[in-house]
Amino acid sequence: MDTQVIVAGAGPTGLTLAVDLGMRGIRCTLIEQKPAPQFLPKMERCNARSMEIYRRMGLADNIRAKGLPRDVPMDVFIVLKNVVEPPLLHKKYPSVAELKAQIASTHDGTLPLEPYQLISQYTLEPLLKAVAEMLPSVCVRYGHELLSFTQDVDSVTATVKDLAGKVSEISAAYLVGCDGGASVVRKQLGIKLAGNEDRMLQLRQSLHYCEGLLDKIPIGKGRHYHVADNHATQLIVQDSTKHFTLHSIVDSDADMVTMFRETIGMPLKFDTLYVGEWKQNLLLAERYGQGRVFMAGDAVHLVIPTGGLGMNSGVGDAIDLSWKLAGTLQGWGGSNLLASYEIERRHVGERNVEASRYATLGRRKWRSMWRPDIRDDTPEGAEARANLVRVADVEQRKSNELVGAELGYRYVGSPLIWPEPGEGPLHDFVEYVPTTWPGARLPHVWLDDGAAMQDRIGYDSGYTLLQLGRTQADVSALAKAFAAYSAPFRVLDIPDEDPRAVYGYDLLLLRPDLHVAWRGNRLPDNPERLAAMATGH
Ligand SMILES: Cc1cc2nc3c(=O)[nH]c(=O)nc-3n(C[C@H](O)[C@H](O)[C@H](O)COP(=O)(O)OP(=O)(O)OC[C@H]3O[C@@H](n4cnc5c(N)ncnc54)[C@H](O)[C@@H]3O)c2cc1C
Repeated sequence: MDTQVIVAGAGPTGLTLAVDLGMRGIRCTLIEQKPAPQFLPKMERCNARSMEIYRRMGLADNIRAKGLPRDVPMDVFIVLKNVVEPPLLHKKYPSVAELKAQIASTHDGTLPLEPYQLISQYTLEPLLKAVAEMLPSVCVRYGHELLSFTQDVDSVTATVKDLAGKVSEISAAYLVGCDGGASVVRKQLGIKLAGNEDRMLQLRQSLHYCEGLLDKIPIGKGRHYHVADNHATQLIVQDSTKHFTLHSIVDSDADMVTMFRETIGMPLKFDTLYVGEWKQNLLLAERYGQGRVFMAGDAVHLVIPTGGLGMNSGVGDAIDLSWKLAGTLQGWGGSNLLASYEIERRHVGERNVEASRYATLGRRKWRSMWRPDIRDDTPEGAEARANLVRVADVEQRKSNELVGAELGYRYVGSPLIWPEPGEGPLHDFVEYVPTTWPGARLPHVWLDDGAAMQDRIGYDSGYTLLQLGRTQADVSALAKAFAAYSAPFRVLDIPDEDPRAVYGYDLLLLRPDLHVAWRGNRLPDNPERLAAMATGH
């Protein structure tokens, strides 16, 4: 075979998957139809979970260096007309620097190891591409379009066309379609997207370069400025602090330029770099793959950017699939390893579509309070403004405070996760309550020497049995059981008090992606069964 894994599509999902596979020593070929990454506006916020993942991959500092400066606040404003007049509502959200200080002094597992980071998709993609190109086992081919594929019991063959029109074939053990909302892979597999029951809006988006605007905004620096109008107008600060996107429902591209001028409300010089249309979607694929072909990212779930769960869900997919592909290709993974991908991630995809709907309905609720006389200097105008603010104060939070969705997701019904009796903690989109319920992400805790638990475990550590609170439990049988599958496994003894207190148990079995596979105070009666389950046998 030409390679072990073909990754089709170099958006954030495909790039993250290719980099993670490459770091695990898996040979992969990343094909992307575009000749190069494009400078087009899309996502701009990597959430805390994605940043924890990028930290494990050694990329977090690089991403922060290229993202929004660490001291810029992430505040959200609702304004009446423009960013000059006093805002109707100002919600404060901490800068990265402020959050880092908060995280450094928090020891109860409630905060993530890394705060969010604002970085525009057009900055993130070239960064990840450069990392992928440095990995010896990753072959990066831009200007290569996936036309179709065939698969049999042993392999997948992709038919690819380059920019000169030359058609060739690439064979591999697996193909992963990270090819976005119009996925060729999904269409060829005949897998449908379901959803869009709600009214979906069609908006225009423009990208502007306006030097010095952010510093001049008299109402304060922030991230989002929503205009309380009947056009759903929103101004978004991009990572350079000199680029801004505007979303609005208007009749023409030219209207976007007028709308930007009105929104900034100051006679500043600016360039318009792009204007385009985009449509909201809330869709989930019926399946996440078939046979040797998998899909990840927007190819299987499309959410409304409100809540910022699009790319972040794709990064989660990539990181769940990557170690399972590696474990299978390295020979220690059983058939349940790859089969669990769809079970684990489709469930999260479903929740994130719901979380995005929840955020969007909140946004729509306060926007529905708009009245034609809302800008009038009359008692009726004042009343309309007060009503909108009252609703927005509650409803806008639903877009910006989805920490429960971001950190609190867990893998339910997975064949790799040891089932505990009961339903498990309730899933809350807003509130995150640290838990080690099997399937959950390991909550972040600091160790006595100041290191983060995640860093102590390291990146390519395989399965880790955490021994906490100076337990004397005999765990040798589990090590033997993992060795029988030649699966990477080690015991990490952490005598510190905080982790034991937060995690609640003496023993935690962690998967390579730091999700909890099992917990207890002594090994289960049949450790062989636990090792078999966790490795997909
Ligand atoms: C206005 C806006 C704001 C957003 N804000 C956020 C945010 O703040 N946070 C967030 O998490 N998400 C956000 N999103 C969503 C986010 O942009 C997407 O979820 C993300 O781009 C999905 O990444 P992906 O890699 O799965 O797919 P894509 O980014 O769509 O990448 C797919 C890639 O596959 C390539 N491709 C397609 N077909 C083929 C083929 N046949 N052969 C080879 N290559 C192919 C495409 O050229 C493309 O490069 C936003 C989206 C929009 C529109």
